Amino acid sequence: MSVTHTLEADVLRRQDPQLADILLGELDRQSTTLQLVAAENFTSPAVLAALGSSLANKYAEGYPGARYHGGCEMVDVAERLAVERAKALFGAEHANVQSHSGSSAVLAAYAALLRPGDTVLALGLPYGGHLTHGSPANFSGRWFDFVGYGVDAETGLIDYDQVRTLARNHRPKALVCGSIAYPRHIDYALFREIADEVGAYLIADAAHPMGLVAGGAAPSPVPYADVVCATTHKVLRGPRGGMLLCGSDLAERVDRAVFPFTQGGAQMHTIAAKAVAFGEASTPAFAVYAHQVVANARTLAAHLAAAGLVVTTGGTDTHLITADPAPLGVDGREARGRLAAAGIVLDCCALPHGDARGLRLGTAAVTTQGMGEEEMAWLAATLARVLRGETESQKVREEVRELTGRFPPYPG
Ligand SMILES: *Cc1c(COP(=O)(O)O)cnc(C)c1O
Repeated sequence: MSVTHTLEADVLRRQDPQLADILLGELDRQSTTLQLVAAENFTSPAVLAALGSSLANKYAEGYPGARYHGGCEMVDVAERLAVERAKALFGAEHANVQSHSGSSAVLAAYAALLRPGDTVLALGLPYGGHLTHGSPANFSGRWFDFVGYGVDAETGLIDYDQVRTLARNHRPKALVCGSIAYPRHIDYALFREIADEVGAYLIADAAHPMGLVAGGAAPSPVPYADVVCATTHKVLRGPRGGMLLCGSDLAERVDRAVFPFTQGGAQMHTIAAKAVAFGEASTPAFAVYAHQVVANARTLAAHLAAAGLVVTTGGTDTHLITADPAPLGVDGREARGRLAAAGIVLDCCALPHGDARGLRLGTAAVTTQGMGEEEMAWLAATLARVLRGETESQKVREEVRELTGRFPPYPG
């Protein structure tokens, strides 16, 4: 395996060895350490091939059949294919596949449905709301009046009674559900009911679980939300990018919110790669993958709890786990550093109780590598050994190298 493919790697090596070394160094890092960052995955060589294709040269402002630029006949076919595959995969009436990222998709959803100054009810940032859900450092917090709901301090579960009360009191124009760290299924039907009660739009920011939805391993927000935003690069395993799904009634507003309101030219190489990923995600093999991602996460969570970590909500329904390592004598920030030195790469995150930092990890990437529940048990035990200081990080680094050698992300 080379950077994307041998020919391009050779060209790059000859022309710019400095950059080629960086890319190969990163490939080596990804292949010899454990990727437990919950938002990451390994795209297929086919997706990488589309990303590294001549479509990267093409300007295509507008939509298929209505472009500003000439010469769009081939990329129009690519975008139509991506849209049709996304609609079929998720059972949606309309799909927009142009958003450059998950954040851009959320911006477009707000642009389609809201005006500056509108009130929006979303999961508070300390509980796993995304930056685009009202952070003062983000456009969302500056341009809208965000009210945050929370999770129950004991159970870690979304406090739906509080959502209803806040919705009644603040009469938001939109309710947002979706999180960067919530490990459980979201009750989209209940959110819909609350939104209807107060006459609000429902926006589902399903960036994390959309790959599980594609594989039938998590409930779909599509039948309930007015607009669904997602990334294509998390569990869904496509290129870095965003997408929007909605009913036919909102199709035109959503399309205009993406282009021309918040974006210019579409990235056609990425859109082609999204089409490849949607094709992959509609296969029986991907459904098997999605279910294995969840089985691995459940096993990992159970073993982390057995090893002494406090697992938020007591487990997971998804690919994602958050846990407090405090009983092992470290906080999340310290733990992340020690684990990184041992070749175990993950994030630290806020926890529903108190100010201490916890750990956030996910099983999408390791499952793509073919790891199963036996490896998850080893992983939890090893992580606990590292955090307890019972082993040298260099020794674990070698064990991780041996394990990843048996499960290469890009065999051959
Ligand atoms: C990942 C994520 C995003 C943003 O995606 P980017 O591609 O990083 O902009 C938005 N919302 C949620 C809930 C996410 O998990």
